[in-house]
Amino acid sequence: MAIIGAGPAGLTLANLLQRSGVDCVVLERRRRSYIEHRQRAGVLEHRAVRMLEEWGLGDQVLAGVPVDGLLEFRIDGVPRHLDVPALAGGRHSRLMPQQVLVQRLIMAFETGGGDLRTEAEGVALHGLDEDRPVVRYHDAAGMGRELACDYVAGCDGFRGLSRRSVPEGALTTYAYDHGVGWVTVLADTPAPRRPLLAVSEHGFAAHFPRGPHASRYYLECTPGETPAAWPDDRIWKQLRLRLGDDDLPVGSVTATSMVEMRSYVVDPMSYGRLFLVGDAAHVITPMGGKGMNLALSDAETLAMVLRAAVRDGDCSALRTYSTTCLRRTWDYQDFSRWMMEMVHDAGDASRHGPFRRELARARLARLFESAAAATAFAVLRAGVD
Ligand SMILES: Cc1cc2nc3c(=O)[nH]c(=O)nc-3n(C[C@H](O)[C@H](O)[C@H](O)COP(=O)(O)OP(=O)(O)OC[C@H]3O[C@@H](n4cnc5c(N)ncnc54)[C@H](O)[C@@H]3O)c2cc1C
Repeated sequence: MAIIGAGPAGLTLANLLQRSGVDCVVLERRRRSYIEHRQRAGVLEHRAVRMLEEWGLGDQVLAGVPVDGLLEFRIDGVPRHLDVPALAGGRHSRLMPQQVLVQRLIMAFETGGGDLRTEAEGVALHGLDEDRPVVRYHDAAGMGRELACDYVAGCDGFRGLSRRSVPEGALTTYAYDHGVGWVTVLADTPAPRRPLLAVSEHGFAAHFPRGPHASRYYLECTPGETPAAWPDDRIWKQLRLRLGDDDLPVGSVTATSMVEMRSYVVDPMSYGRLFLVGDAAHVITPMGGKGMNLALSDAETLAMVLRAAVRDGDCSALRTYSTTCLRRTWDYQDFSRWMMEMVHDAGDASRHGPFRRELARARLARLFESAAAATAFAVLRAGVD
């Protein structure tokens, strides 16, 4: 098995295949130090936590990682809390920065004797619709290499080559621009006491922990804006205004970037002996915190069907990979879109007018007035089957 990409999808798959006795090699374009420090997501949903525990990775990957608790919606400066784990039947997620997950998955894989090859340049896939695909690349020393394998897992993210290696017309593409802009900021500031989503007429903002001494912030902005439009003083001024917190601690901003607020899904998530996993097959906005979790969920589904095919000789399961993953993908795309409409429309009425604003406010209020609505939300947030 050749795995292209050492992000959350590729490394999870590699660990699960290792535990299944299926040989695999991971090829990663970047340096190891780069992938171990790339900061993105921060929540490992309950479903992913349970999966890691069930596969015997709990001790190595989850040790010391805090569990989640209350989720705060701050509406016009007034805090409202949802006890998501309790509403989801006592199921906790974990507050785990993506780079920590990647570091630990690499350590677990290599401790088990895994083969991770970083700085693999010019990866090219051949014979994907034949019995024995071939992967060619140049290693860190610039030597041309070739790997013959039974299957290829394209875990190389949205901009990777795997999806682009599929002949035109073989995949149906669904793309959607959500019509909002977000700027995101990483800063060395104390983590918030709890993940926080703020709704107000000034626009949406959010504050999430990224370890004990770092935070990720999101701010709604005009689509098409660039980081140059968001100097530090504007960031802090707008955060204080939108979070309704004049005392919000200011810290050093370590990264400011624009988030592409779009969704993308391909169907099917496979072609011949190539299986697309995680962002290589679908992207989702950060709203709802599902991108990294979908990557892990795809990886587990693929590990199970490959184990059945390679170890037990049952290739029929391979045909279920795409439909199983797409069901969850669309469920989460809907959750993300639902949340996005709610927190954006309920704020600045100039977006879609006062009627949509009142609809979104009703949706938001229902979370705190209806136990059934709160539970439905919590179950999706925690990722309960
Ligand atoms: C700012 C931001 C915030 C986010 N917040 C959240 C969140 O709160 N919750 C959440 O769940 N998700 C979040 N996400 C999404 C999440 O980070 C992604 O969904 C997740 O990284 C997908 O994992 P992956 O392994 O599929 O892809 P990636 O993490 O993109 O990994 C792909 C890997 O493949 C490598 N690669 C690419 N091309 C090649 C090639 N040609 N050859 C070899 N290797 C290659 C890349 O270097 C990379 O290491 C966020 C994303 C961003 C950008």
